[in-house]
Amino acid sequence: MGETTGTTYPRFAAVNGLTTIVTLAIGAPVAIGVGVIWGIPTHAIVGLVVMAGLAGFGVTLGLHRLFTHRSFTTPRPIEWGLMVLGCVAGQAPPFSWVATHRKHHKHSDATDDPHSPHTCGGRQLGFIRGFWHAHMGWTRGGSGYDASAIRDLTRRPDLAWIDRYWYVWYGLGLLAPAAVGYLIGGTAYDALIGFLWGGLLRHAATEQSTCAVNSVCHVWGLRPYQTADQSRNSWLLGLLALGEGWHNNHHAFPYSARHGLHWWQPDTSWCVIWSMERLGLAWRVRRPVLPEHKLVEPEQPIAKAG
Ligand SMILES: [Zn+2]
Ligand SMILES: [Zn+2]
Repeated sequence: MGETTGTTYPRFAAVNGLTTIVTLAIGAPVAIGVGVIWGIPTHAIVGLVVMAGLAGFGVTLGLHRLFTHRSFTTPRPIEWGLMVLGCVAGQAPPFSWVATHRKHHKHSDATDDPHSPHTCGGRQLGFIRGFWHAHMGWTRGGSGYDASAIRDLTRRPDLAWIDRYWYVWYGLGLLAPAAVGYLIGGTAYDALIGFLWGGLLRHAATEQSTCAVNSVCHVWGLRPYQTADQSRNSWLLGLLALGEGWHNNHHAFPYSARHGLHWWQPDTSWCVIWSMERLGLAWRVRRPVLPEHKLVEPEQPIAKAG
């Protein structure tokens, strides 16, 4: 695969957008309804937690801290595994996810930020419109991405192959909990409830936690670091989003593998990276030098309304 520049669209981009809507609007409510009426076996609850952890770390460790920010280095088989798990999460094909997030950091809360709750295409947004735009509305703008922003990834044929077949890994991530449910329970209902809870409900829940980092963490919370954007720290999302809720810390030190910077800021993704480093599975793990943070001026002024 040669290097490309300009806007590129992932394979079956429309399918990715559809999975987001279908799992949230239909899959998750049906999963809860079926479980309440016909029962929730233990394996379905375990499947939900395990799959949410795997897909969640695929996003936080893989797509975010490893591929977007290069905050640590790890062997290729672990890179492959993390990118596949990022596909299982179903939030976006990996190259699209990384390019969009790099753009967010480059233009955070300024005109060209793809998902700021404060601006969109040069307009200032009202509170409700802005919150919706940052949470999910921005995804309606299409799945195109600037390939020139991720040349470090596109020039890697192994990663490009995983990205090209993102839908295969996503589909396997839906079917795996169904297969395990059938192996444990032995009935068609065990397979169905495994698919619904470990597949669809898990996809909706993990995707919403990422959406909330984009919306909530640029609106509510403390700002211990005076960054040029509106990023905030959220204790709740620090817990639910595997450490990604310490978003003001992250915008202050985007290169850092560690987002929760104090013992009272839980960051499970950092716990995994720290453990990998101890085991020799991660190196060049980048940490913040706390007194070194300096205010970065906005790259462009936020546009005036009208
Ligand atoms: Zn942000
Ligand atoms: Zn980031």
